[in-house]
Amino acid sequence: MSHRQPATPEHLRVLISRQQIEARLDELAAQIDDDYAKSERLVCVGVLKGSIFFLVDLMKRLKTPAVVDFFQTSSYGSGTKSGELRVRKDVDMSLRGQDVLLIEDIVDTGYTLRTVLDLLRFRGARSVRLCALLDKKEAREVEVPIDYCGFRIANEFVVGYGLDYNERYRNLDFIAVYEGPTE
Ligand code: 5GP
Repeated sequence: MSHRQPATPEHLRVLISRQQIEARLDELAAQIDDDYAKSERLVCVGVLKGSIFFLVDLMKRLKTPAVVDFFQTSSYGSGTKSGELRVRKDVDMSLRGQDVLLIEDIVDTGYTLRTVLDLLRFRGARSVRLCALLDKKEAREVEVPIDYCGFRIANEFVVGYGLDYNERYRNLDFIAVYEGPTE
């Protein structure tokens, strides 16, 4: 059918394959299980929407008892600079005394994560750590320590495995650099 996406459209350059993602997920989950071996339960907080594919696949591999909640931000106007971020959906659970693992798709300038991390820490969590699938280190404008990082990538716009371009491509099972027309 014409509206269907071909497996790898021409304007997508595969950067990280499904096999690479899966191997890295196994490693990350093992590392997280080790670090939280003494924790009674982990509250995994996914930042919507980009993190959901990563969150689900990672959580399925964890042996540590875990619960899930979500957080969503949006920016005022076009930028994501400090102070322009709005909370669209807050977590439903109380985070007081909890071990929180914030799960994000990509850290770019760092403004989004810096704000979200500060907000969650303010709620009295026992610990807050960050797990990000992708790290665009070169683009960083504010310092954000990533405790668990999937892959470091160059400063290019990527899609797939949860990441979108105008809401498209989230359901690709690989990560690709978008080289198509900009709308
Ligand atoms: P930051 O606040 O770190 O600049 O931006 C983080 C957010 O920007 C991510 O959660 C993601 O939604 C978006 N973003 C940054 N870089 C990319 C990219 O290469 N591809 C996509 N699809 N989104 C990105």
